Amino acid sequence: MGERAVKIALVGNPNSGKTTLFNHLTGSNQYVGNWPGVTVEKKEGRIRQAERYGYDITLVDLPGIYSLSPYSMEEIVARDYVTKEKPDAVINIVDATNIERNLYLSVQLIEMERPMVIALNMMDEVYAKGDVIHVEELSRRLNIPVIPITAKTGEGVPRLVEAAVSQIERGFIMEPDDLYDDFTHEIHHRIDNLVWQQAKNAGLPVHWTSIKMLEGDQQLRGVLGLPDETLRKIDEIAHEYEASSALGDRETMVADSRYKYIERVVGASVVKAKLGKRTLSEKIDAVVTHRFFALPIFLCVMFLIFTLTFSTIGAWLQDGVAWLISGKFSPWLREWMTSLGAQTWMTSLVVDGAVSGVGGVLSFLPQIAILFCLLSSNLISNSLCFIITILQ
Ligand code: GDP
Ligand code: MG
Repeated sequence: MGERAVKIALVGNPNSGKTTLFNHLTGSNQYVGNWPGVTVEKKEGRIRQAERYGYDITLVDLPGIYSLSPYSMEEIVARDYVTKEKPDAVINIVDATNIERNLYLSVQLIEMERPMVIALNMMDEVYAKGDVIHVEELSRRLNIPVIPITAKTGEGVPRLVEAAVSQIERGFIMEPDDLYDDFTHEIHHRIDNLVWQQAKNAGLPVHWTSIKMLEGDQQLRGVLGLPDETLRKIDEIAHEYEASSALGDRETMVADSRYKYIERVVGASVVKAKLGKRTLSEKIDAVVTHRFFALPIFLCVMFLIFTLTFSTIGAWLQDGVAWLISGKFSPWLREWMTSLGAQTWMTSLVVDGAVSGVGGVLSFLPQIAILFCLLSSNLISNSLCFIITILQ
């Protein structure tokens, strides 16, 4: 006890593994609520045995987002949290199997100038595919620590927390100078000069504020309270920017510039495995989603399912159930009831009415069960796996 209390925010795309990492680190020490005023879930939890890192660490699971633009409740919640609550550090979780798309959020987070680390998650899948990610190079280019992890097994997670803690001790991070092309960079610096005072007053990072103004972020425009004269100048600069490119729209142009940067970073640090080393599931996908074979394969599989369900196994089981009920159970029940001295109408009601009625429905049960199993289980994909492996 007595360790300094710090807050670390977990930010990442949907399905990048945030919840898996969050659960791994906090166990049952969780508090689940809502962000004030909106129906976006808020999860907080204290990291188990955080004292070994020298801190009392609270982790905040922010909503999954792709960008920091103000177009959804989730995006607004996440960016307001980072700019207003100023977490002591940000862990940006990145799905390593989908690195380009995930880095689009990372490059925006870097501009928020919080102490930050990247958790490069799903490394088990990267290894399985045979891809190679040069983590050192990635980290050098982005100017932040990148820690490979597998949240599902917890591999690399202690190192991740250590890295986050040492980022807290180092303080804020500097964005790389080549985040944008030269012209975007120049334009963005001209806006810096116009907004820095108001950005500082509002406690916002200056570079981030000016790039958002260049993008035409209406929400931020409202928050800053810039004089009309300044807004007019910004719009003039933005028009000059738009006139310089065929893309013609400032937001698209900034996004394009970010993607070009990401392409360079990924090009220098990620080596995809040769096509020959595709995983089994990719090989199956290549066959079952083939532009010519897909439909015939689908029809064959469906034919197989219906044959199994209605004419072969299903039909045998249906006959079996019918035979058990009307051939065995009903005569036995009729005899037993008669031996007990039941009236004929009573026996008939039970045997010919209830039992044969229920039996009629019951005889469809095997077919329903087979159809259900075949449609829902992995049976189909597994048998396809099997066939493909044999064919190889
Ligand atoms: P969230 O949407 O960011 O909260 O992501 P989840 O934690 O719900 O994870 C999305 C999916 O990815 C789940 O099916 C997880 O089991 C899976 N997943 C998470 N981490 C890993 C990992 O390290 N390796 C693999 N193979 N799967 C993972
Ligand atoms: Mg989640």
